[in-house]
Amino acid sequence: MSGGEAFLNNVLYMLKNAADYLNLDSGIHDVLKKPKRVVVVSVPVKMDDGSLRVFTGIRVQHNNARGPYKGGIRYYPSVDVEEVTALAMLMTFKCAVTDLPYGGAKGGVACDPKNLSKNELEKITRRYTAMIYEIIGPYLDIPGPDVYTDAQTMAWMVDTYSMMRGVFTPEVATGKPISLYGSLGRHDATSRGAVYIIREYFKTINKPLKDARVVIQGYGNVGYNAAKILHEEYGAKIVAVSDSKGGIYVADGAHPDKILEHKQKTGSVINFPGSKLLTNEELLTTPCDILIPAALENSITKEIAEKVEAKLIVEGANGPTTSEADKILFERKIPVIPDILSNAGGVTVSYLEWVQNLKRETLTLEEVHAKLEAKMVKGFHDVMNTSKKYETPLRLGALIFAVDRVAEAINYLGIWP
Ligand code: GLU
Repeated sequence: MSGGEAFLNNVLYMLKNAADYLNLDSGIHDVLKKPKRVVVVSVPVKMDDGSLRVFTGIRVQHNNARGPYKGGIRYYPSVDVEEVTALAMLMTFKCAVTDLPYGGAKGGVACDPKNLSKNELEKITRRYTAMIYEIIGPYLDIPGPDVYTDAQTMAWMVDTYSMMRGVFTPEVATGKPISLYGSLGRHDATSRGAVYIIREYFKTINKPLKDARVVIQGYGNVGYNAAKILHEEYGAKIVAVSDSKGGIYVADGAHPDKILEHKQKTGSVINFPGSKLLTNEELLTTPCDILIPAALENSITKEIAEKVEAKLIVEGANGPTTSEADKILFERKIPVIPDILSNAGGVTVSYLEWVQNLKRETLTLEEVHAKLEAKMVKGFHDVMNTSKKYETPLRLGALIFAVDRVAEAINYLGIWP
């Protein structure tokens, strides 16, 4: 079974659990099991060395009962239809948890961005955008950034779409550069949203965040910014972090910016001065107050779940915990704040960006933070209350809440014709 298939099975299994709790109509369950549309395109690109290569590009639109499809685009070698489908489903439910007027989608191109030049990435992005042009749009499907795509990628998408339509359309994508009507606060929104959730959770257990020991898997946009906000704004200690090359442990905690500088200079967080080298498994099983998996799906497997020594897991990535691991963590009484709640900050500020673009207005950073905070805090309490009501772990509570909301929209809309 490929990683994508295993991931999709996990998501379908969770959906079934939520459907059972809700006594969901089997027809509605069938609607939610499958994406509405899957588009696979072959993206031909003339490489810098003159050779021609063909990349597989995917856009999966899962459901649009609550609004236009919304979701990121990832560039990664193992991207496949199953993985993107699982991620698109999670987007439908994520947007429902924080009550964004969107459905769910996801896209990706199977490529290795670390071995591509900027010129090649631009060509891939433009040709991929041109090939999915007919199924995206500001009221139809709005892409955003995800793994190994960024504000520049979104700017190329906007330009390609605008050129083809003959109309400047910045609202077709979110996560853009500020000078191209990106939103203030979008770059660290996923992390800031996760930190609001952590803060709320710590209030419920009556513990201070100051000096809390934090371990982070993945030191990309989400991992680094979570470390920075937790350390600088809440006084937490970042004791271990990792990237694809390995992990580091610093007993007294390290400044997130110093780690970033080291990574930028050497290409990895490993060998950070004064740190001890960790394997991926050692990192995930390091004793700590908060573990944030912020890399890729299927990271916390059942073997790792048995050894996790964190008091709380907060999912920065999408789908980092397998269903088997989830069960073990539940038995071991280690709470997991699920992706569709904890990392919803990114798409929430994407929504704020889209609204600003449609209105040709600009929010201040303080306004963005206040709106993000309100959405995350409301989502947190909605999920906590649902979990309490149904006596379930938080992931199932979040899904029950979201599936109910989406199912109600489908019911009211009815099935056409
Ligand atoms: N990639 C982000 C996520 O997984 C957000 C995408 C967006 O802003 O559309 O939630």
